[in-house]
Amino acid sequence: MQNRREFLQQAGVIAAGAGLAGAAPQQAATAGGDWYGRPMRWFQLAFVEDDPGQYDPAFWLDYFKRIHADAVCLSAGGCVAFYPTKVPFHYRSKFLGDRDIFGEMLAGCRKLGMNAIARTDPHAAHQDVYDAHPEWIAVDENGQKRRHWADPELWVTCALGGYNFEFMTDVTIEIVRNYGVDGIFSNRWAGSGMCFCKSCQALFRDYSGHDLPRTADPLDPVRRQYLLWHEERLFDLWRLWDTEIKKINPNAAFLANAGGGALSGLDMKTIGTLAPTLFADRQARHGLMAPWANGKNAKEYGATLEGKAIAGITSVGLEEAYRWKDSVQNGDEIRLWMADGVAHNLRPWVTKFNAKPIDKRWLPPVEQFFNWHYRNEKYLRNEKSLAEVAIVYSQQSAAYYGRVVEDHALGYYQALVEARVPFDMAHDLLLDEDHVSRYRVLVLPNIAALSDRQCEQILRYVDAGGSIVATYETSLYDEWGKRRKDFGLAALFGASFEGRIDKKLQNSYLDIGKPHPLVRGLENATRIVNGVNWIHVKASSPLAANPLTLVPSYPDLPMEEVYARVPHTDTPGVYAREHGKGRVVYFPFDVDRTFWEILANDHGTLLKNAVAWTSRGEQPLSVTGKGLIDVSLWRQKSSITAHLVNLTNPMAMKGPLREIIPSPPQHVRIRVPKGSQVKAVRFLVNPGAPRYRTVNGFLEVEVPPIELNEAVAVDLV
Ligand SMILES: [Zn+2]
Repeated sequence: MQNRREFLQQAGVIAAGAGLAGAAPQQAATAGGDWYGRPMRWFQLAFVEDDPGQYDPAFWLDYFKRIHADAVCLSAGGCVAFYPTKVPFHYRSKFLGDRDIFGEMLAGCRKLGMNAIARTDPHAAHQDVYDAHPEWIAVDENGQKRRHWADPELWVTCALGGYNFEFMTDVTIEIVRNYGVDGIFSNRWAGSGMCFCKSCQALFRDYSGHDLPRTADPLDPVRRQYLLWHEERLFDLWRLWDTEIKKINPNAAFLANAGGGALSGLDMKTIGTLAPTLFADRQARHGLMAPWANGKNAKEYGATLEGKAIAGITSVGLEEAYRWKDSVQNGDEIRLWMADGVAHNLRPWVTKFNAKPIDKRWLPPVEQFFNWHYRNEKYLRNEKSLAEVAIVYSQQSAAYYGRVVEDHALGYYQALVEARVPFDMAHDLLLDEDHVSRYRVLVLPNIAALSDRQCEQILRYVDAGGSIVATYETSLYDEWGKRRKDFGLAALFGASFEGRIDKKLQNSYLDIGKPHPLVRGLENATRIVNGVNWIHVKASSPLAANPLTLVPSYPDLPMEEVYARVPHTDTPGVYAREHGKGRVVYFPFDVDRTFWEILANDHGTLLKNAVAWTSRGEQPLSVTGKGLIDVSLWRQKSSITAHLVNLTNPMAMKGPLREIIPSPPQHVRIRVPKGSQVKAVRFLVNPGAPRYRTVNGFLEVEVPPIELNEAVAVDLV
């Protein structure tokens, strides 16, 4: 161990190395004003313990320069410190010696003009921490202190007590004070599952008067209090770290690794108010994840970050459960993941663990994509989405009703990608006029748990001329997951709950009735398959149309018995009506979830038709041609850009890709914003000059075959 004098000497060396002037933090890359919106391309170098002395900083600095990365995230401390920390029990890399690899890289990145944030990871601690502060270690439900699941020499820390609130606060302060970084990005800061340590027990008892719950049932009142307390405690920690950071550098922030869609833990609405910028941490596909999942993540963050910059973290490696952290994915897979994120307003961020790269095949594809992004930055610095349809997502429905809501959302998402509809995601706690009046249609894919107030907001939205498409149990539960007697939105649906739900229906169908926009394309079908969960409802007013009717389930074996006992009914499979100036479509079954499960084309057609009918008119962007193309339309300062990401690939629904398969040509129509005129049109990928014309306020462009992606950029005057 070094003595204090040696520490100070070293600190002096570091200060010189990092270009510090006395105790004053070095200026960030953008002095004066927020820096958060500036960076367009991020690189994260996550050191491993044996990097010091064994990696080549020049290699990375050269690469950052070549890819035009303008911001960097570097590992500094927490579990392992990569600088000469003076905080007691802050474990230094045993390879660090008298080096400061964090400070060295930071100085190099700043010379390149990059913004720089420091990464901490507080989730694991070494034996000396355990010995000195056993109360900082997480405890399992059996009262045992938790060894780290992947590295048994380490201990899992409690996120809600002294370890984070005291020790990591000291670490955070030290890094910001010594290095003047633009922010602290903390990974795994929110704990590793429920903790039963004495501190958590005491804090929860103070909060609720109860012992920690032993059930995961969200309808249990103590469990509900636990969820609220847990979230409040983490937001307290967020605010504490942010406050301490700002005391030293007002232009820096705590940048939590947090957030996501319906299944994410912390409330995205609150996150949207706390975070000046955020990083969407879904690093690659795994299992059956669709190739548009990065774009979905982008839209979920965008719903509450409201115009703030969001970077999308991409891993160069495989993201499977086996955690091959030194692996490298196919370059086309990496590029497609980034392209889909960028199309939906993520700024690319590539992360590399281990500064001593083994397999270097990822370097050229990332360089190629980042350089494309750099060349076209002007058309990628978006100001707002021009989508007029939004799918609502609901963390409270996932928490208090059930995580199955995500399957409904995924089904509707897939249907709208197939239909090439530009759409956003909207957060269910932000359904006020300011947030939703710009949409013509809100899709509620089994948004089951809604408060009276939220239902009232949706009613007002429709009264004001908006339209909704809702499925299955939407609004049948309150915000705590308690079932209502009737839908909160019964007045809009024109239907009331009859108290019965049939689950896992076998061999049930829907008859196609008289021609109607909702069954367009299914006229020759006569019958299509039903969903598998059916909710019994009763029309509360005469139906204007009944284009889809139930054929009840009948035996599917023995084969001799497979015939409909009740061949026809009048029971509606969809309620479609005008309400004031808006339109409402309600499906009393899980059409979206079933679509996600079996991907039957007919269900996709119903979902697509429902949005088309409620939209009342053409979308601001339409793309015609064969293939699976994910689209979006964004406004920049003096341009609009339409993105077409080519997902047409045999590995679209289960990665990874083998190669990019070019799509056929596409015909694109883009609505020219009112009051603007087209000055110039360019492709951001194809080197050719676009053939285009303007007809009745729409720009029409023929897009040649698309490899990875194309973007049609329209300069406006
Ligand atoms: Zn604890």
